[in-house]
Amino acid sequence: EEELEEELPKLEERIEPIKKQVEQVGKESEEIISEEEIKESEEKKGFFSRFISKIKSAKIQQEQIDEILEPLELILLENNVALEVVDKIKENLINTLLGKEVKRSEIEKTIINSLKNSIIGVLIEPPNLIKEIKENYEKTDKPYIIIFFGINGSGKTTSIAKLAYKLKKEGISCILAAADTFRAASIEQLEKHASNLQVPIIKHDYGSDPTAVAFDAVKYAEKHHIKAVLIDTAGRMYTKENLLKQMEKIIRVIKPDLKIFVAESIAGNDSIEQAKTFNETVGIDGIILSKADVDERGGTILSVSYVTNKPIYFLGTGQRMEDLVEFKKKDIIEKLRLK
Ligand code: GDP
Repeated sequence: EEELEEELPKLEERIEPIKKQVEQVGKESEEIISEEEIKESEEKKGFFSRFISKIKSAKIQQEQIDEILEPLELILLENNVALEVVDKIKENLINTLLGKEVKRSEIEKTIINSLKNSIIGVLIEPPNLIKEIKENYEKTDKPYIIIFFGINGSGKTTSIAKLAYKLKKEGISCILAAADTFRAASIEQLEKHASNLQVPIIKHDYGSDPTAVAFDAVKYAEKHHIKAVLIDTAGRMYTKENLLKQMEKIIRVIKPDLKIFVAESIAGNDSIEQAKTFNETVGIDGIILSKADVDERGGTILSVSYVTNKPIYFLGTGQRMEDLVEFKKKDIIEKLRLK
């Protein structure tokens, strides 16, 4: 017993470094596992996860943020997000993440959540248009007037027809006004839609005053208790001054309830610049982004909304009449593969 008692402290002394070694190996393997986990989740999740693994410590430092900002900036730009929106998102990220204490396992979640919040903060949820039109008619007994702007080829005429289809399905009567009196085919194109949808249309000759067409459509709607008037306008180059003057005249005379700007989501910066110009000159209330079905990126949705500070009402998601969906903020999160 005596001998053993003498031996015991010596044994403990020898065990101590081994214990430490075991602890060290444990820690290292934990690190390896967490990095492997990140890699795995990286494959499962979208492209944003790619840079998350660069963050090694639990307290988020400026250099670590810098390290993720560079690839993030590239990813956002590649996805058609405008530079000023990228800057805004970066600023939000720095503000929410810097110095934040987070568990290693929560770092990825924290960054993704912060990105999501930042993006959600940039977007505006649109009002319920169907409800607004119905309420307007109940209160005023007058039609709800919507005027559409957008350059040729943006999907304006198709979007008007799709909205007419939606309204009809909701039991809301409407009339179309072919106030694009400039483009040769546009009146016929709208007429074709009107005939297919079996909704009335007001048209004048080519070259006539667009305000007169819109005015007649409103009068017709008032007389026949039609609840909504959808006015198509010319889509020549948005920088042309006389076109803008025409638009101003229609707005002054008709006093629309809603001015919708239609743009292609695939046109990226072009759409963003157009939205800015239209908003500064005629003042838009909301946006329809067409061709979202062929847009792999989703950044235009974010940028157009941010630069105009106006909500996106609908996304065009195909060529059929049914392909007009109400915009929801969470859609963009899915589109940017942040879910
Ligand atoms: P407008 O000149 O602005 O009136 O444009 P149009 O309405 O004539 O549309 C131009 C083209 O885009 C047409 O071939 C449409 O069928 C197509 N288009 C419009 N909206 C969508 C959409 O949401 N998705 C797809 N894939 N094509 C669309």
